Amino acid sequence: MASDLSRLGNYFCSLGCLCSSVGMAAESESCNCDAWAAKDPSGVLSPYRFNRRTVQPDDVSLRITHCGVCYADVIWTRNKHNDSVYPLVPGHEIAGVVTEVGSDVKGFKAGDHVAVGTYVNSCRDCDNCNSFLENHCSKFVFTFNGVDTDGTVTKGGYSTHTVVHQRYCYKIPDGYPLEKAAPLVCAGITVYTPMMRHNMNQPGKSLGVIGLGGLGHMAVKFGKAFGLKVTVFSTSESKRDEAISLLGADNFVLSSNEKQMGVLNILNLL
Ligand SMILES: [Zn+2]
Ligand SMILES: [Zn+2]
Repeated sequence: MASDLSRLGNYFCSLGCLCSSVGMAAESESCNCDAWAAKDPSGVLSPYRFNRRTVQPDDVSLRITHCGVCYADVIWTRNKHNDSVYPLVPGHEIAGVVTEVGSDVKGFKAGDHVAVGTYVNSCRDCDNCNSFLENHCSKFVFTFNGVDTDGTVTKGGYSTHTVVHQRYCYKIPDGYPLEKAAPLVCAGITVYTPMMRHNMNQPGKSLGVIGLGGLGHMAVKFGKAFGLKVTVFSTSESKRDEAISLLGADNFVLSSNEKQMGVLNILNLL
């Protein structure tokens, strides 16, 4: 699910007045980006204003229209890994519209629809980076709560705009809904990649999907789009209707039912 961020700007206009009235005007004037941030591990997000860097020669600046909600947002806003740096702006399923590009950027222009996923920097020189596997680079920088090469802590997509090196920005085809594009750059790619690696884009093959959360939904949808026979495994009978009727899965298996679990033997990929 993608959140509509279009109202954020209006919300913050009124908040700006509040900031002034409590003596925060100086800080607001030097900041160019409005966001929702966690200030502590409570899980509550509140308005926050900070500064994005100015556009460098290889940068793309985009107005964020939508940002998917990922479980990673919960993990780090609530400091589950004991490494959260507050204020923390979550969000790494970003979709939006390009507003400005640096002088060396050739592949993007103002007005383009683009997405930014889970990382915004890497060494660009190792075997992984040279194989389009930047997410395995040892110097990979996470889109939020990561320490970038300039020492700043990265801030994510629950914000009005972002500035990113062109290498970590992806074009969304014209006409494709931005709210549907956003979840593809984390949940979507996470299930799409193994399916492609294991040739699970060949009609007639059988795919098993464990759990119907964010990734599971995506896996079922890709599976049906590829013409696969899709079986959903769940601990909860309450997911049956959603799996079969809404997402179009062919089969639903309650994982506590040993007899039904026999279907495992006929799957090509789980
Ligand atoms: Zn994610
Ligand atoms: Zn690298």
